[in-house]
Amino acid sequence: MTAFSLSPEAAAPRLHVARRTLDRLRSVPALAPHYPAHLDAGSLDALAQLPPLAKVDLNTALAHLEPAAEQSATWLFQSGGSTGAPKVGYAPTGFYMASVHAHWQPLDRTDLFVNAWGAGRMWGAHFLAAALADLSGCRIIALGSVAKDEYGAWLELLAARRVTAIGGTPSVLRLWFAHARSAGIRLPALRKVLWLGEAWQPQLDADLAEVAPEARRWGMFGSTETWVVGTNTPDCPAEVFHPLPHQLVHADPGGLLDFTALDPEMLNPVLRYRTGDAGELTDCPCGRPGPAMRVLGRRDSVVQVRGLGLDVDELIERAERAPGVARAQVVLTERDGRATGVDLLVVTAGTVAVPDVERLRTELFTATCTLGTAFQHDPWAFRVRPVDELVSNGRTGKTAALVVREES
Ligand SMILES: [Zn+2]
Repeated sequence: MTAFSLSPEAAAPRLHVARRTLDRLRSVPALAPHYPAHLDAGSLDALAQLPPLAKVDLNTALAHLEPAAEQSATWLFQSGGSTGAPKVGYAPTGFYMASVHAHWQPLDRTDLFVNAWGAGRMWGAHFLAAALADLSGCRIIALGSVAKDEYGAWLELLAARRVTAIGGTPSVLRLWFAHARSAGIRLPALRKVLWLGEAWQPQLDADLAEVAPEARRWGMFGSTETWVVGTNTPDCPAEVFHPLPHQLVHADPGGLLDFTALDPEMLNPVLRYRTGDAGELTDCPCGRPGPAMRVLGRRDSVVQVRGLGLDVDELIERAERAPGVARAQVVLTERDGRATGVDLLVVTAGTVAVPDVERLRTELFTATCTLGTAFQHDPWAFRVRPVDELVSNGRTGKTAALVVREES
């Protein structure tokens, strides 16, 4: 199986976009040394010689380039970082969804689509889904995120309106269907579940069988840097996606995926960009020709918390800069695959004053976009706890940055 999702012939007419992106990256003083003059993006072989682009470098490039759309407004979204001030990615109005819709039409004019991706806080998915729904000509309920005690009333409304489609992050969809199950609410008209933002959760199949037996999943894969890279249908395995022709996917020998945008409208300089996802190119049992990509999960320090990426290493680094903190560790508590709380354990240094735990908690919560958003309705679920020692693995003696605990 080839290492690229497009054949050399299919890629050739679009590679001028990659060449232009290479020129843009070279124009960034901090990145120029990564791209010496002999490197080129004129062929797939040449592309394979380029260094992969890391998140931090993409953010450096964007800060320098400040791209702007030619024909529309330029939207700023949270991109590639979960702590500190939001790192920013750019997209034009439309969010490149016209080229997605050309190849993937889960919605049609007869649908009533509930957009349950959170809106605001510089998150992109809600607006991207709205653009797709717009192209589909369906009716839209722009719901966004709701608080715990609001699910029941909204579900009654959705059932009464006979909604046919809903879209959200899998962990948010689980909340919707878990509430429906426990409240005995059924959505018999629901046929389509759109998802994006994290891996599909098998428990959703069980929820759907009870709440909405006619519903089938329709997945998108992408990031705020790349936008939608690939899509799948109910006939594809949940972890296999078909890349769009304007997205070039590459699987390196180490098993990491990288992405090159071949859409000339693309504002982010995405050139062999690594999202941190591992994967491979494969055939899809749905029978659609051409390589599909199987996504095998993340391999960086980012962990999914309620559908948002929390960068564990960044959070620890920030905590360890606080006075009196010697070491820190993140403990993520989950119940049925959903985060119920995040504890930051801190070992206090012996010789200095005891750290101000409450102040540190407030600082980290405010400064970490992922925590502030994931726990906006239950902020007390993020705690900072002084401990004598961190949790270590008795078998290996290793102390991991992240410990995941299942709540009984
Ligand atoms: Zn397929």
